[in-house]
Amino acid sequence: MPDLVQDLLAFIDRSPTPYHAVAEAALRLEAAGFTRLGEGELWDHGPGACRYVIRNDGSLAAFQVGSTSPAQGGFRILGAHTDSPNLRLKPEPDVSAHGYRQLAVETYGGVLLHTWLDRDLSLAGRVSVAQEGRVRTVLIDFARAMLRIPNLAIHLERELGEKGLKLNPQKHAVPVLGLEDTPPIRELLATELRAQGISVSGLESVLSFDLMLYDTQSSGVIGSRGEFISAPRLDNLASTHAILTALQRSCLGPAAAFTRVAVFYDHEEVGSRSAAGAAGTFLPDVLERVVSGYKGGEPQGLVRALALSQMVSVDMAHAVHPNYSEKHEPGHHPVVGKGPVIKVNANQAYATDAETAGHFEALCRSADVATQHFVSRSDLACGSTIGPISAARVGIRTVDVGNPMLSMHSCREMAGTEDVEPMIDVLGAYLKGG
Ligand SMILES: [Zn+2]
Repeated sequence: MPDLVQDLLAFIDRSPTPYHAVAEAALRLEAAGFTRLGEGELWDHGPGACRYVIRNDGSLAAFQVGSTSPAQGGFRILGAHTDSPNLRLKPEPDVSAHGYRQLAVETYGGVLLHTWLDRDLSLAGRVSVAQEGRVRTVLIDFARAMLRIPNLAIHLERELGEKGLKLNPQKHAVPVLGLEDTPPIRELLATELRAQGISVSGLESVLSFDLMLYDTQSSGVIGSRGEFISAPRLDNLASTHAILTALQRSCLGPAAAFTRVAVFYDHEEVGSRSAAGAAGTFLPDVLERVVSGYKGGEPQGLVRALALSQMVSVDMAHAVHPNYSEKHEPGHHPVVGKGPVIKVNANQAYATDAETAGHFEALCRSADVATQHFVSRSDLACGSTIGPISAARVGIRTVDVGNPMLSMHSCREMAGTEDVEPMIDVLGAYLKGG
């Protein structure tokens, strides 16, 4: 297996939640020489400085200041999202029914619910704990199979074949945690936190949590010649990984004239409207401070910088499904393994236009990478990305691209091993000034 594919699989497996993805990204950035800034600190930096900042544990922005001031060199931005559709615990999740202990869950984003059935699931996220008069938020990962949403036996639903599977998320998606003597979730959390070395005095120390289910099966490579990646959360950790890797690589070399920026947002799957999401102030705040923190700032620096800037929004794209090819626009059939997809929507569900697509196309040609094109059928609604949302927030011209995949939003998704390296190469060329 190529090293980059192996590294992507490791990144996904270490990132069961957006918070873990951000923590893993932070580790990798620190190893590449980036230092963390607090949003409450005064920012002050010069040419070549490598910094990153985290908002609300689920969003991260990293930048390498250019060799000229941001006002004179502008930004080259890469963006993706850290969240994926999943099932999340309700605040009082303990449910007892018919001798079982279950956990009440809420669906997050556009979950393909049936794909969560009969998987060996675990639980991860973050917990707020009271410690010596202070509230502290810590990451937690149970990292073992402990939950399952069992299918109903076909003998008890004979007409399943004709009627199809209809799941009510309230009634049919409640995972089984154990038999009725299973301790309540707060007790399990306190025990697990102690096992992770976090001092928790009692159940009352567990104040609150953001906990989500994930599949415990490791990511892997499948296909007769290893053509495919089989993994959870490829949408959009594959793009997050590609951007991170391209940024780490380009920062090994000299700084460019422009300032390199990578931004990873939480909450894309639920519309991005949150304090840390793409519709919030995160990117505008970071860009403003990169400009004003550069040697005390320059007159009209932010607007000058934005006018010189460009952004690539990277999110996974729909490959043509061999069993449902009629769902795709004729002449626009992206295939797994055949390179990055440029996404277009005249109604601005994607931010791409002739100018930004032209630049990305030229970039791919210079890196000897073939491109593909996606546009929705006119009688099907189009998905969206952080692209148009961030573009509207900061007024930067943007292109929407991504690698092709199948099973999008499934508990276990599918993409191409051959697509991993070319995307990283193209994003690397963009950060070098191509
Ligand atoms: Zn996505």
